[in-house]
Amino acid sequence: MSLLADEARAARLGLRWKPGFHTLGPAFYTELRPRPLPDPYWVGRSPSVARDLGMGAGQLDTPEALEAFTGNLLIEGSQPLATVYSGHQFGVWAGQLGDGRAILLGETDTGLEVQLKGSGLTPYSRMGDGRAVLRSSIREFLCSEAMHALGIPTTRALCVTGSDAPVRREEIETAAVVTRVAPSFIRFGHFEHFAANERVAELRQLADYVIDRYYPACRESQRFGGNPYANLLEAVSERTARLLAQWQAVGFCHGVMNTDNMSILGLTIDYGPFQFLDGFDPRHICNHSDTAGRYAYNQQPNVAYWNLFCLAQALLPLIEDQQVAVAALESYKTVFPAEFESRMRAKLGLAEAADGDRELVNDLLRALAAEKVDWTIFWRRLSQHVAGDGQQAVRDLFIDRAAIDAWLPAYTERRGQQSVGDAEAAAAMLRANPKFVLRNHLGQLAIDQARQKDFSGVARLQALLEAPFEEHPGHEDMAGFPPDWASSIEISCSS
Ligand code: AMP
Ligand code: MG
Repeated sequence: MSLLADEARAARLGLRWKPGFHTLGPAFYTELRPRPLPDPYWVGRSPSVARDLGMGAGQLDTPEALEAFTGNLLIEGSQPLATVYSGHQFGVWAGQLGDGRAILLGETDTGLEVQLKGSGLTPYSRMGDGRAVLRSSIREFLCSEAMHALGIPTTRALCVTGSDAPVRREEIETAAVVTRVAPSFIRFGHFEHFAANERVAELRQLADYVIDRYYPACRESQRFGGNPYANLLEAVSERTARLLAQWQAVGFCHGVMNTDNMSILGLTIDYGPFQFLDGFDPRHICNHSDTAGRYAYNQQPNVAYWNLFCLAQALLPLIEDQQVAVAALESYKTVFPAEFESRMRAKLGLAEAADGDRELVNDLLRALAAEKVDWTIFWRRLSQHVAGDGQQAVRDLFIDRAAIDAWLPAYTERRGQQSVGDAEAAAAMLRANPKFVLRNHLGQLAIDQARQKDFSGVARLQALLEAPFEEHPGHEDMAGFPPDWASSIEISCSS
C-alpha cells in the first residue's frame, strides 16, 4: 500500500516549509523518502505541538495526517533527508553514525523542524533496520511532552503512529513512528563528523549555519578576540550546564549520553533507556546495557563536560587556539553548580541564596541517599509540609529518622530567615516539585495497554504529565510509590 506516489492525496496539513538544513548541501545528508508501513493507527497526539507548528484545529485528526506522519504520504513541499554525523559512544570514538532511522521532512515557517523517527532504512542504518518499536516510541512521545511541561529544554513529539508490521528485537515487536519537532536536531556529533574527516570547509559551514540561526549573539561578541566559534562553544557549554542542572534536580537519567545524543541547542534529545529516579540513589544506572555505569545519575554532569570537550576538539580548527577553546569550556564549571544550587533552592522554597545553603542541600541529599527515599514523593511532601500539612508525612519516608530529624529544624530555621512567608514559599515549591513524572512502571502500564490496541492509558498519562505540578484529584495511583515489580523493568539500548 504505497501512497508515496499518490500526489492527489499529497497533504499540506497546515505546514508551510521554508529553506533549512537542506540548504547546507549534499555533504551533510542524503535525500530519500520515508518507507511506508501498512495500516497505521494513532497511538498518541499532541495538539499543543500541532499548534506550535501552525497546524489548524483538526488538521492532526485527519487520515492524511495519519498517513503522512507514518511516512506513507509525502507532505507537499517537504524535502525529506537523513543527516550524517559521527560520535563517541560510551567514551570510544565510533566513527560515522548518522540518522539511521530518522528522516527530516524539513523546516516549517514557524522555525521548527519536523522529523520522523522509525521511518525506515537510510544510508546510515548500519546493522539496524531503520525501525522503532511501539514501546520505545511511546516512551519518547510521553517523555518529550513531560519534559516540556516540566520546563526542561527538549525536542517535542507531535504524535506516534503504530503499525502491526513486525520488528525484530530480543523478540518480535511491532513498528511505530514518532514525529519529533525541534528548532534543530543538530548534535555535537555533526561537528565531530567533519572535524574527524578534516573537512574544515564543511565544519565552518555548519558552525556558521548554527551561529546565524540559533546563536546570532556569538557573531557580535568581542569575547575570545571576537572568534565566533569560541563564543559558540561557550554558549553551548552554558546551555548544556543549565540542562544538566535541570536533569539532576528533577531526577532524570538520560541513559545514553553519547556525543551523538547531545543537542547543539542544549535540548534533551534521543529518549532511549531514560528513567526518572524512583528512590534517590546517586549511583543509579538506568540503561541495562551500561554495565560500567558510565551514564549513572551522578555521572551525568561530568559526562556532559566530557562531551563538551569532544565538541571543543571538533571546533578547534575554527577556534585555532587550544587555550581559547579550554577557556570557552570553563563556563560549564561555574554555570552548572550555580544553576544546580539555584534549582535546589527553588525546590526548597528558598527565594534568595544564603551562606550554608550548600551544606543544607548536601546534608539532605545524604539523608535521602542513605535510605533511597523516593525523590519525587519526598519533594512533594516537603512542599506540603511547608504549606502546613504537618511534617509527619515527610518523616514517614525514613525508617531511621535521625538524619531527617536533625535536618528539618535546620531547614525550618533557614526558612525563618527569609522574608518570604510559608504560604508563598509552599506555593512556589509546588510549582518547582512535580507531582507526576514518567516513572518506568507508569510508562510500562500504558505500553502494555497499547499493545492491546487500547491507547487510553497513553492519553491519561499524557494529560497528567502535561500539567505535572497540578494535583489532579482522582489520579493518586499515578503519583504513588512504584510497585515492587518496577525495579525489575530492564530497559536497554534496544529500541
Ligand atoms: P541511539 O543510541 O539510539 O542514539 O543510536 C545510535 C545510532 O544507531 C544512531 O546513528 C541511530 O540512528 C542508529 N540506530 C539505532 N537504532 C537503529 C535502527 N533500528 N535502525 C537503524 N539505525 C539505528
Ligand atoms: Mg541517537
